[in-house]
Order: sequence, then C-alpha cells, then structure tokens
Amino acid sequence: MSTYQNTLAFAQAQDGADPLHAFRDEFHFPQHDGWPVVYLTGNSLGLQPKAAADALKQELDDWARFGVEGHFQAKHPWLSYHEELTASAARLVGAKEEEVVVMNQLTSNLHFLLVSFFRPNGKRRKILTEQRPFPSDTYAFASQIAFHGGDPEVDLVEVQPRAGEHLLRTEDIIARINELGDELALVCFGGVNFYTGQAFDIPAITKAAHTVGAIAGFDLAHAAGNLKMELHAWNADFACWCSYKYLNSGPGSIAGAFVHERHLGKGLPLFAGWWGHDKKDRFKMERTFKPMPTAEAWQVSNAPVLSMAVHRVALEQFDRAGMDRLRAKSEQLTGYLAFIIDTVAKQTNTNLEVVTPMDPAQRGAQLSVLAHGKGRGLFDALTARGVIADWREPNVIRMAPVPMYNSFEDVYRFGSILKEALT
Ligand SMILES: *Cc1c(COP(=O)(O)O)cnc(C)c1O
Repeated sequence: MSTYQNTLAFAQAQDGADPLHAFRDEFHFPQHDGWPVVYLTGNSLGLQPKAAADALKQELDDWARFGVEGHFQAKHPWLSYHEELTASAARLVGAKEEEVVVMNQLTSNLHFLLVSFFRPNGKRRKILTEQRPFPSDTYAFASQIAFHGGDPEVDLVEVQPRAGEHLLRTEDIIARINELGDELALVCFGGVNFYTGQAFDIPAITKAAHTVGAIAGFDLAHAAGNLKMELHAWNADFACWCSYKYLNSGPGSIAGAFVHERHLGKGLPLFAGWWGHDKKDRFKMERTFKPMPTAEAWQVSNAPVLSMAVHRVALEQFDRAGMDRLRAKSEQLTGYLAFIIDTVAKQTNTNLEVVTPMDPAQRGAQLSVLAHGKGRGLFDALTARGVIADWREPNVIRMAPVPMYNSFEDVYRFGSILKEALT
C-alpha cells in the first residue's frame, strides 16, 4: 500500500484485501444508535470473542455435572488446564514452553518475579525504568525497594526524555544504564509505554543491562498480542503481561509470566505455593517445597478455570491469525490512522500532535494524540458520536486500531467523526 486515501471506497478496498478481515465477525461490538461503535480501546480492554460464552458454559456445565471430579473428568480437565495454554502463550512472546506460565494477574506477577529478580545487595540497589511507567508498576517497584529497606526516592530511577521531547532515545537509555553501572540491580521497562505508545528496544536494553551486571525484566501489558516478540532469543531475564488488553480475555482475566531458561531449576528464591510444587508429587502434600523445573515453579495457587476458559478461546484466535499477519496488518492500519489524523488536522486547522513515534518499528497499534487547546471537550464530542477512545490525564487521547478486529473502515469512520467534532 503506497498511498493512503481518506475515502470510504479506499478503506473498503483495504478491508476486502485483508486476510484477517473475517476475524471481526468473531467479536461482539458495543452498539451506538444501532451501529457498532468505532472501538479504538483494545489497548485497554479487548472486545469479547463470541466463543467466550460457550467456553465458559462448558466449564459451568462440567462443574454442575462432575463437581470436584471435574478436575479429571471435565472436557478440559481442571487439574492441568493451565498447561493447555502454555504453548500458545509461549508462541505469543517468542519463548520456550518451559519458560512460560499463565497465572495470577499482572501486578501480582510483577511482584512475584521481583521477589526472585530484585535482590538489592551492597552497592547494587537501584531499579531503572522508563519515564512515567504505568502507576501500578511504580507502586510495585517502590514498595519492593522499601521492603528491602531502601528509599524509593533514591533507588527508583526513571530515564527522562531530552528537553522538548516526549520519547526516549535508545542511546539515552543505554547511556543511563552505563552511568548507573554497578549501582543497578534491575532494569525494568514496559514493552510499549502505556502513555506515549513508544515501543522499546528490548534486546538492546537487555544487552546493556547484562553488560553492567544487572537483570533485565519487562512489563509486556501493552506489547503482548500487539508486537512480535522473541523473549528467549532476546535474553530477557523475566517478563509479565496481562490478557485483557490486546489479548481479549476479559476484564481482570488471568495473566502471563516468562522466566528465561537459564534461571530455571537454579533454586532462585521465590514465594512458594502448592501449585509451584513439582506436579509429580504435588498431592503427596509433603512438607518440603520442591519447585517445578519450569516457570510453573512461580505458580502459587491453583489456577482459575473460568478466566482461563476465556483466555484459551482468545489464544486460539491468535494462533489462527498468527502474529506475523497481525503485525503486518497492524502497521498498515495504524499508519492509516496516522494519515487520517494528519489529514483531518490540516482540513480543520487543528493542532493534533501525535506523540507516538512515526517509525512503525518503534510503536505498536496505539497512537497517543495531544489535542492542543481541545483536550477533554474533543474527547467527549468523539464519545457522543460513537467513538470509544481513551482519555488519559493530563491531555492525551489514546487510540489503538487493533488488527484482530478493527477495520480500515473503522479508521475512515473515525476520521469523519473527528472532522465533525472539530468543525
Ligand atoms: C494495564 C497495566 C497494568 C495493570 O495491572 P493489573 O495488575 O492487571 O491490574 C499494570 N502495568 C502496566 C504497564 C499496564 O499497562
């Protein structure tokens, strides 16, 4: 696609040629005045796969029918349910199966992983993260530092952009890592920053962290299901992600975690629970904890089947669509959104500043727009016309056309509504 056009015919022609277009019909779209909304918040809560209801019903029926015996007798036996999700989850982030486990929720997983991977020692006490990480991550880092007797004001360091810039340059991240050197215990970045939509260079950050003897971990909340990743090859030490954003698995659904192979079976300190115990003799109920030789060692509790039922449906869609095809479409679709925003800004003489990188390699699906002098009023006008986008204080509108279910026509319709709202 060499040039984009701001016409319905162009958008429909792109949809006609899109090999993933049929996935749209596999999702429920909220309605506005009898029309599906222009849903641009898959980065916040992905839409519901239509197959989710049957998957849930299956587990409810098996529970009704078998009671506790469902652990063995259910169509998907509950005892090993989480294992059925591992291969898909590992494909999604580019990991070996033993490196991945589906468990808990995101911030919980971050804490459990920090227990193992943030162990300040002597001079090496600092955590380096991106400017303005998601608040939950800041709370987790600060509380872990305090838990170890440190002062978050001193030991939690954010890489700041240069004066007048919104984004971080990889060279500046690496320079900061080198500067902190042997004071650095952990570098923990988002895969994609939730606010700016900037995708960080995970392999470069990992390599720089390792060079100074620090651990490299990643919060992939906005990267899982959005970017193509190779966590194993990139050598990241650990990662975690949620499943309700790009992974369409429902509000507060089960999350994921990655621990690199080189850390498995090494007796790393961890907070233990019975589901992390070697499954061969988990039910011997022995006194001594014997960890699984895989990432499952970090599991604490028995796994929530109802939320995994939805997650399995969603992961199966990712397997069918494939991250390569999703990412190829995503680059085109988000490029189209950038073109539409630029076109409408010119037509209406408005200053709509996209702070997300223009280079597709440095972003995922999301664009973050600073609407100078418009702000909340513009956002409310879009909402009133059937666009679901996302407002973040102080003045950013975030939009993510999601390749799994958004169409080029959605983006075109967004453009007409934006123009209406601005004139
Ligand atoms: C969405 C998000 C969270 C939310 O955490 P939960 O524990 O799932 O509530 C945390 N961190 C980042 C980076 C996020 O984008």
